Amino acid sequence: MKYQVLLFYKYVTVSNPQELKEYSFELCKRFNLTGRVIIAEEGINYTLEGLVEDTENFVKEFLKDERFSDTHIKRSEGFGKSFPGLSIKVRREIVGTKFPAEVDPRVKTGNHLNAEELHDWYRNNKDFVVVDMRNSYEYASGHFRGSEDLGMKASRELKEVVDKLEDVKDKTIVTVCTGGIKCEKMSSYLLYKGFKDVHQLHGGIHTYMEKFPGKDFLGTLYTYDERLTMDFGGDREIVGTCKRCNDKTEKYQNCANAECNMLFLICNDCMSEEGPGFCSNECEKSTARVVNRVRA
Ligand SMILES: [Zn+2]
Ligand SMILES: [Zn+2]
Repeated sequence: MKYQVLLFYKYVTVSNPQELKEYSFELCKRFNLTGRVIIAEEGINYTLEGLVEDTENFVKEFLKDERFSDTHIKRSEGFGKSFPGLSIKVRREIVGTKFPAEVDPRVKTGNHLNAEELHDWYRNNKDFVVVDMRNSYEYASGHFRGSEDLGMKASRELKEVVDKLEDVKDKTIVTVCTGGIKCEKMSSYLLYKGFKDVHQLHGGIHTYMEKFPGKDFLGTLYTYDERLTMDFGGDREIVGTCKRCNDKTEKYQNCANAECNMLFLICNDCMSEEGPGFCSNECEKSTARVVNRVRA
């Protein structure tokens, strides 16, 4: 039994999200798919898993809708349990940013730079800055050589940290994220803030790693499902380090402090046998309070 994970999105006007939700639900049930889907008036964002044949049949059906016929579908190996079930939601945005309405990728967004082009830029030592638009804990286990981590915990924080990029405002910027969806809006926001030369990695890190495994992107790619990280082969070094002792690791864990719950990297030695550990000394101090609250 071979499983596959599909990842695709598109910023395109969906005039009746509710209708698409019902259709998607029906289609996923028909092909026994699990996963997470977000539909908004501004577009679609799908991550689905199923048997290879079922996922391919889903794609065939889904792309018959001409609004989505040119959607770029990313495929990766699954294991049948990447998602606890099927969740399809209608929301205001497909990536939660709370940017002003003028920031609309359907109108204006960064130039789509494909993986081959970025690969050439690296080879030719072109003068450019890679800005990682993912969350900081994702950057921790793997990232592009020389790229910037803005220290975000969520996409909506870009507004607060964009000043960190003030001194590269006139430089050539390449925004990157997992599959490309975040960059549509994040690069659009940079243009809105007056950045001059903004590009976005088309298809995201996912596509880059497929085409150039082990090159330029160091470490492993964090995923938003039970797989946690994705490996595309190739010679790669481990860049993740344990939050507690700094040893090399690629294992993630959620902080046991329920108020924090942050994902962080932890090594085998620091992992406690009694269950999840804490991301920091501060979180460790809060144990009693959290345990009480959970039991209450
Ligand atoms: Zn450790
Ligand atoms: Zn914590």
